[in-house]
Amino acid sequence: MTAVKRIGGDEAALRQVQMLIGGKWVDSACGEVLEVEDPAHRRPIAVVPRGRAEDVARAVRAAAEAFPAWSRTIPRDRGRLIARIADALEARLEELARCIALETGNALRTQARPEAKTTVDILRYFGGLGGELKGETIPLGEHVLSYTRREPLGVVGAIIPWNAPVLLAALKIGPALCAGNTMVLKAAEDAPLGVLLLAEMCQEFLPPGVLNVLTGLGEECGAPLANDPAVSKLSFTGSTEVGKLIMRAAADRIVPVSLELGGKSPSIVFPDANEDWVVDGIIAAMRFTRQSQSCTAGSRLFLHRDVFDPFLDALGQKVKSLKIGDPLDEASDIGAIINEKQFSKVCGYVEEGLTRREARVVIGGLPPKEGPLSEGYYAIPTIFANAANDWRLAREEIFGPVLVAIPWTDEAEAIRMANDSHYGLAAYVWSHDIGRALRTAHVIEAGWVQVNQGLGQSPGHSYGGYKESGIGREFSLEGMLESYTQRKNVTVNLMR
Ligand code: ADP
Repeated sequence: MTAVKRIGGDEAALRQVQMLIGGKWVDSACGEVLEVEDPAHRRPIAVVPRGRAEDVARAVRAAAEAFPAWSRTIPRDRGRLIARIADALEARLEELARCIALETGNALRTQARPEAKTTVDILRYFGGLGGELKGETIPLGEHVLSYTRREPLGVVGAIIPWNAPVLLAALKIGPALCAGNTMVLKAAEDAPLGVLLLAEMCQEFLPPGVLNVLTGLGEECGAPLANDPAVSKLSFTGSTEVGKLIMRAAADRIVPVSLELGGKSPSIVFPDANEDWVVDGIIAAMRFTRQSQSCTAGSRLFLHRDVFDPFLDALGQKVKSLKIGDPLDEASDIGAIINEKQFSKVCGYVEEGLTRREARVVIGGLPPKEGPLSEGYYAIPTIFANAANDWRLAREEIFGPVLVAIPWTDEAEAIRMANDSHYGLAAYVWSHDIGRALRTAHVIEAGWVQVNQGLGQSPGHSYGGYKESGIGREFSLEGMLESYTQRKNVTVNLMR
């Protein structure tokens, strides 16, 4: 069990949670802690260890010691343990969902509960893939047996962000462990509690050291993990800026790296798609109910000029009807932004849009300075019409509920603008003309194009980015094989 105790008086009681190294719940070597804040009320709710290089070294040692036995465990047996974690998690789903909502500010009904459910699905999916770690035979002739084996890499160093913390942790843990690796995972400083709860459930079933979970800051804890010589693989989800540092660390030691980074995903609406269900789809694709804190947010809306104004009016009306409020309230559709830094950043983009005379504000603006919403980091969904693709608002990942709508008339021009981005994670195409929609899907430079829907990822799907949105694929069997195994060829002379 995670050691959880309360510190301070009753009023200001803070949960003190420990991290997991070598099967034990521990404080950081330096004894310092970091506060975790509830962004909906701007108040600390817990403290976690401030892990640093010394803790990273201890965790990597524990993972390296656990590796030989774990990698030799029969794959189906490893998978069975992962599936049991999924069952345990399902039994505590509501507790996990509430924990996610509290620390991330994501609304329980629309986000945190679905995240907890998808986490179960992900672990169950990877738990079933042990038997798929197959090799091949190579036909070199009757006198030779040449075959490949899929072998694990060793200790995986995984670093995750705060926006879907538990799901993203499972997305690393499930495939890496199923493939026979051990892991040191660093949780994001803003959302470590759900990940530690997941770690507690993992620890019930896994041998000590197979999974180690650290809490700490990026530079103090993430960087030593990325640079540890005993880490054989780096798997990172987060900003493109930090992704580049991770890739440099991997280059120094020639270790494989998977990166799932930012996005500025286009949604292209053809004139025949001026319909209510498309409006709903754009809201889903923009991830408004996760405060748009999603790398796949369809944050550049390319709307055909013929339907531009009526479509935006309908979109504005629907977005306005979403309820912003306490993440734990079942009535809330939209919760709070994760922290003050992100909140100010989002407000900065809104301010910039408001100063552009050519932009029409369809809905939104700066957050209220008083009233219940001013108690938390609540941003107001904002849509700027008549934007241009070269504006900073259309080029940079805002990671907040600010949508820019850009008009187009010529299809080739719409596609050129959609592809004019250094990102290439996701895209959305909306049309009844399936030939046109698929032709568009094929020329869009993105790892994932959805036609006539704006849903989230599902287990089994090959998910990852083009261009600066990343390297490698997650969520799927092929992602597991490519990211967490290496092929060994064995060639045997049968004549001797
Ligand atoms: P975000 O802006 O979404 O927080 P980051 O890329 O800054 O995205 O953070 C994602 C994860 O990367 C977090 O766990 C964070 O602590 C970690 N991180 C940040 N800086 C570094 C770094 N220099 N080295 C390793 N990890 C880092």
